[in-house]
Amino acid sequence: MYDLIIIGMGISGISASIYAKRANLKVLLLEGSTPGGTINKISKIDNYPGNFNISGPDLAYNLFNEVNKMEIEYKLEKVTDILLDKVKIVKTTNNVYETKNILIASGRYPKMLGLENEEKLLGKGISTCALCDGIFYKNKEIAVVGGGSSALSEALYLANIASKVYLIHRREEFRGEKELIKKVKEKDNIKLILNDEVIKLDIKNDTLKGITLKSGKTLNIQGLFIYIGFIPNTDFLKNTNIKMEDGYILVDNHQKTNINGVYASGDVTKKDIYQIVSAASEGAEAVIYMNQLDCSNT
Ligand SMILES: Cc1cc2nc3c(=O)[nH]c(=O)nc-3n(C[C@H](O)[C@H](O)[C@H](O)COP(=O)(O)OP(=O)(O)OC[C@H]3O[C@@H](n4cnc5c(N)ncnc54)[C@H](O)[C@@H]3O)c2cc1C
Repeated sequence: MYDLIIIGMGISGISASIYAKRANLKVLLLEGSTPGGTINKISKIDNYPGNFNISGPDLAYNLFNEVNKMEIEYKLEKVTDILLDKVKIVKTTNNVYETKNILIASGRYPKMLGLENEEKLLGKGISTCALCDGIFYKNKEIAVVGGGSSALSEALYLANIASKVYLIHRREEFRGEKELIKKVKEKDNIKLILNDEVIKLDIKNDTLKGITLKSGKTLNIQGLFIYIGFIPNTDFLKNTNIKMEDGYILVDNHQKTNINGVYASGDVTKKDIYQIVSAASEGAEAVIYMNQLDCSNT
């Protein structure tokens, strides 16, 4: 029986695991994909003190290294179900575990446009990861869709690789950080297309060859990068009564859900700020409060 099972090895889950290990809890980290989570896909990390100009994969590597150095137990297994009875059960693709407490730090995944052939074109012209796929578009014309900080920063990154980047946003104003908006506007090879939307993907030989916009404009681009929002990873909570809003987990200011012994932190929770610094601190806080509350609660 574990004291704590943490679902997700993003910065929030790893931060929590460090505090749990130091508090001498029997802790297990579970990860269904890549340790480090979302930061693996970020070209350059901003706003995380002490990590100026670091790349996402380098930060992810440092985190994973810390898990190994501290000998924190982890398993690369996707959680498929959890059952919240007297003893809490966590089911994964490979195993079934028992635990006293659970921290859900499973993050969120990118929303797609919902257009015909979009899924089929992932990796064949459509991407949600500039860092992973940007290099395939060296000196080519591409487009980025979105108006938040993620879209702006990744458009800037792509503008250093592609010959031209169209930044398509359905509103007049961007939602992202002012500094990023300024940089995007100053960048010679970024062309802003505002108050417009992608309505059709044009294909040739199973590959993206262009897009059609609501305004009727067509763009002959080879790559389309989508940054229009996210969907929280909470499918595995289907058999619980954990309270959620729009799929995001509701927590109090101690990261506690409505169920005793179940906490949540980071991007999977309903909140105002989705940043690395907050995800890390919430993971730590969850464990600190959990530990004060006594680990024997079931
Ligand atoms: C393009 C982009 C750029 C960004 N740039 C910045 C920036 O410069 N500065 C900044 O502060 N923030 C930035 N952010 C936001 C920041 O990356 C996130 O707020 C933060 O990484 C969230 O961490 P997390 O641990 O909550 O979630 P995640 O990093 O998403 O980790 C969740 C983990 O849970 C795993 N998981 C999900 N479901 C399961 C399951 N069923 N079983 C097991 N494991 C599961 C996932 O595989 C993942 O590894 C950016 C985000 C994006 C998308």
